[in-house]
Amino acid sequence: MKIFSHGGHRAHEARCELVPGELVPTIETADRIDLVWGVLAERGFKAPVDCLPLTAADLLAIHDLDYLSFLETAWDEWTAGFGDEHDGIAFVWPHRNRPPRPPRAIEGKLGYYFFDGVSPVTQHVWSAATGAAGAARSAAEHLLASGKSSFALVRPPGHHACRDMGGGTSYLNHTALAASTLAASGARVAVLDVDAHHGNGTQDIFWKNSDVLTVSIHTDPADDYPYFSGYADEIGGGAGEGFNLNLPLQPGSTMEIYSVALDAARARIHDFAPDYIVIALGVDGYRGDPSGKLNLRQEDFSRIGEAIAALKLPRMFVFEGGYDKAALGDCVARVLEPSRRL
Ligand SMILES: [Zn+2]
Repeated sequence: MKIFSHGGHRAHEARCELVPGELVPTIETADRIDLVWGVLAERGFKAPVDCLPLTAADLLAIHDLDYLSFLETAWDEWTAGFGDEHDGIAFVWPHRNRPPRPPRAIEGKLGYYFFDGVSPVTQHVWSAATGAAGAARSAAEHLLASGKSSFALVRPPGHHACRDMGGGTSYLNHTALAASTLAASGARVAVLDVDAHHGNGTQDIFWKNSDVLTVSIHTDPADDYPYFSGYADEIGGGAGEGFNLNLPLQPGSTMEIYSVALDAARARIHDFAPDYIVIALGVDGYRGDPSGKLNLRQEDFSRIGEAIAALKLPRMFVFEGGYDKAALGDCVARVLEPSRRL
């Protein structure tokens, strides 16, 4: 297994995020990458290859130019209006059932282009996100060229970023970029998202696609973030109808329940008969995670890794959520271990 990363992520770390009732220090910190790599290094994985950032032009298959143009210049617009003492966070969001109307003012644009308050615009958000995207694309190209497995060890996360907006600490959707890169070769691609939160951005980007199957196992959005996406009746639209599968679980679900959903996910992926599978590897289903509501133990992540390997598909992994500093690296390593020799 070859690992791809982008060291420039360190420059992006939000000073705070807006959670219910208060502004708090972000849990999406730069040391998450060090914690994962520390465990992988101990277990003999080879050091990551550092990748170059992409440009907006490289991202048009998965994001609208309008959103990319905003994100690229958002920090400059923000500081021109509000200085650099604070990161850019919205305080007004679009009203329901109103036609979309992007405002001119940066503080309004933040509400238009982000769907929540945990995704601040920082000075280096663009370079960090495009660097992570570069690593994800390189990991996909490695899989295409060699047939061997790869891991994009990247942050900020990506699976909440939609075609035309960011959110959930995600700015660019690296998992979707990897799937899109593989699909551009003419391949059929399945995405399996095991993060504890619905991969709403990946669902959004491939909503009308039948060449990319999107499957997500997550806490029921009626009970957990992102609240407005991830229900079982969201199955894709147009040509993509039937090519999105959401498997929501009750809060507190243990591996006994999780494994039933995992079997259903594997069955759907098997029926789809993809050439490649991309795993959105979030480990915030761990029971000690500060952001998740599932009840998985560290050893359960080994079972998830074995179930993925048993699909016997050429595969790659993209790091997503996971915030428990003590268990994070072990949970990731356990999922990767059954695929590391491929
Ligand atoms: Zn998550």
